[in-house]
Amino acid sequence: MSLTIAAVRSGTDPVGKLPDAAFHRTLEDPILCSKCSVSYNLIVDYDATLSRFFDQDARPLITLLRKAVFMGHTTDHRVTHFETSGVVVKSFTPNHLPPTQKPQ
Ligand SMILES: [Zn+2]
Repeated sequence: MSLTIAAVRSGTDPVGKLPDAAFHRTLEDPILCSKCSVSYNLIVDYDATLSRFFDQDARPLITLLRKAVFMGHTTDHRVTHFETSGVVVKSFTPNHLPPTQKPQ
């Protein structure tokens, strides 16, 4: 089974579906943007973290997510939810934005 890691900006809810899992685990070390105070929590299938190969499998995926977060800095970290999919990173953006309230 291939490992999937989601990165969700702290203080926001996941926009898309989290990786398939009975239980999710948030890793201890979030991804921190090097240019501002934004951080992203890394969420994985709890069972996957029990694998003895987890650190080895997770490292390249975390590198991909870190790049995505750093690139997101230029657009104000508007993408609040990323997920690895093999060697690429998917970005989730809300499909249905609530209607904007016009000021009176
Ligand atoms: Zn930033």
